[in-house]
Amino acid sequence: MHKILIANRGEIACRIIRTAERMGLETVAVYSEADAESPHVRMATQAVLIGPPPAAQSYLRVETLIDAARKTGADAVHPGYGFLSENADFAQACADFGLIFIGPPPSAIRAMGLKDAAKRLMRQANVPIVPGYQGDDQSLDRLTRAASAIGYPMLIKAVAGGGGKGMRLVEDADGFSDALLAAKREAERAFGNDGILIEKYLTKPRHVEVQVFADSHGNTVHLFERDCSLQRRHQKVVEEAPAPGLPDAMRTAMGEAAVTAARAIGYVGAGTVEFIVDVADGMGEDGAPFYFMEMNTRLQVEHPVTEMITGQDLVEWQIRVARGEVLPLLQHQLPRRGSAVEVRLYAEDPDNGFLPSTGKLTRLVMPAARTGVRVDSGIEEGGTVSIHYDPMLAKVIAHGPDRATAIDRLIGALDETVVEGVRNNRAFLARLIGHPAFRAGAVDTGFIERHRADLAPSAELPERLVALAALALATPKTRVVSTSPWQALGDWRLNLPSRRRIDLYAADGARFPLVLTARDTGTTIEGLDRTITARGRWTSDLQFSADLDGDLIHATVLSAPGLVEVRSGGQMFQLLLSPPGTDRETVQDSDGKVRAPMPGRVLSLSVQPGQWVTRGARLLVLEAMKMEHRLDAPADGTVTAVHVTEGAQVAGGVLLVEIVADA
Ligand code: ADP
Repeated sequence: MHKILIANRGEIACRIIRTAERMGLETVAVYSEADAESPHVRMATQAVLIGPPPAAQSYLRVETLIDAARKTGADAVHPGYGFLSENADFAQACADFGLIFIGPPPSAIRAMGLKDAAKRLMRQANVPIVPGYQGDDQSLDRLTRAASAIGYPMLIKAVAGGGGKGMRLVEDADGFSDALLAAKREAERAFGNDGILIEKYLTKPRHVEVQVFADSHGNTVHLFERDCSLQRRHQKVVEEAPAPGLPDAMRTAMGEAAVTAARAIGYVGAGTVEFIVDVADGMGEDGAPFYFMEMNTRLQVEHPVTEMITGQDLVEWQIRVARGEVLPLLQHQLPRRGSAVEVRLYAEDPDNGFLPSTGKLTRLVMPAARTGVRVDSGIEEGGTVSIHYDPMLAKVIAHGPDRATAIDRLIGALDETVVEGVRNNRAFLARLIGHPAFRAGAVDTGFIERHRADLAPSAELPERLVALAALALATPKTRVVSTSPWQALGDWRLNLPSRRRIDLYAADGARFPLVLTARDTGTTIEGLDRTITARGRWTSDLQFSADLDGDLIHATVLSAPGLVEVRSGGQMFQLLLSPPGTDRETVQDSDGKVRAPMPGRVLSLSVQPGQWVTRGARLLVLEAMKMEHRLDAPADGTVTAVHVTEGAQVAGGVLLVEIVADA
């Protein structure tokens, strides 16, 4: 093997290219017209344009991909995840054209492709499955009988379903036949296969999956488990390894069941056996019942947590297995160290049903590299999140000697992450993993729904963060010399004028009239419940470290006109520099051009070309950093041009409205 074509895009394409290069292999990236500027295209040795933006016309075209491999002299294909990764016909086509498919044999993909057949196979292999019916007889009569035997609540699943689609919960017998017919219609439409299976609905499940690996010499191992219980709309949001609170005996039993499952289908390569764990009666010392759910015959999105606890590179393992080598390590040689937690940073709106958000990434700052923190991303500032692909922006992963350390490191990394231009779940993720119940390991798939109220942004403003914001505003950014924030604290300098007044306002209008006085001992901040003595300095462009009465706080501080945002410990607070509602931003040239003061989205537009306006009249409302900013006419005059529409995403400084002032 010397050259790998990566039949994928985004972060996973970048991640595969990195390992391939380290192994001295050449790479071929493929890209749609929407991805011409994407990082994976630049990173690969070569790149081939494969079609228009819709995946069906590019990333899902088997012939085009095979053609690209042949033209570029690639001798292997890595499918990544999603797209064609679990398509047996693609794996077969690669083999037919003499290309090494870096994945399992087509027969193994087929065996696990349909949920009913997979479950029957597992039952034969003595792998526990959720009580249910997976038969071929799909008559209403047979299914109704099966349903009453299983009992309610129950779940109807499309046998060809995936990604959380095609599932229906049925609460009682009355609802069964209607739900069944609807589910079959839906399945036929979505998957071209109306086959369904039914199974007992577990009221409090945990999603625990086991990473398996097999080579072509008969060795099969597992690389421990991952807990992916934190889901929204049946899709994973947070993943971790090992699963918190799992007794060792259960870990071993699950690992063995997963290896049995892989062996039963003659598996080769990387795979994941997903189990559902019934924790309705808690997780006892002996564990809890677990059942096979399905097997994913590819690399998973969440594989980095396994890499971090085992110190292995799973893409390297895949490549070595595909080259016919034996597994790099056998079961007893596999280490398991510490804990790792991953979050998926999505362009979506957690406050609005997690609806995906699209647009240009006007700003993207990922956390700085440091011990125990890994960022897998395939998009950069200036890139566009389009409707054509999954809205995942990046994965942020942290590892630590124990779970608490991993969580703290991940929260720190999320505090530093800045995404502007698209709505995103950064703040939500930080609150989620900072939640006491998550810290306690009390996870199950109902977690996010159950804790929804706690996961909403906090309205309470801690006074010390108000003090920190004021101090940051009063402290000029000097060149950063030290890399460690705490080391930098040794080097304080008084940058403040001796006395300065700063008024800050909360979104609800609460006012903090602060007086900062520079003294030899530090800066005193008056105007809060108690006077605080503080020292602080910028440790990087966005990071501010402060000592507040002996408390060391490291925060990310972002400022925009009229607004300062402070993030610390996973919490985010915004403060206004003038009372809410009075904030009228205009960035104008002398010639009446109104520009966006910061990147944002046009929420509403109040003027049209030709309209006469008076000074101070509302032109439009821009939403930026989750706050609304009203942009007003800078002078009496006539609107000559409006360059945006409602809903448009604009970059900072963009020309919005032009006005010719009255003479
Ligand atoms: P898909 O292939 O569409 O992802 P899965 O069968 O893997 O579907 O199930 C997806 C998710 O749905 C699981 O992670 C779990 O949260 C939930 N789920 C699946 N089966 C059950 C069940 N029997 N009882 C309760 N929840 C379930």
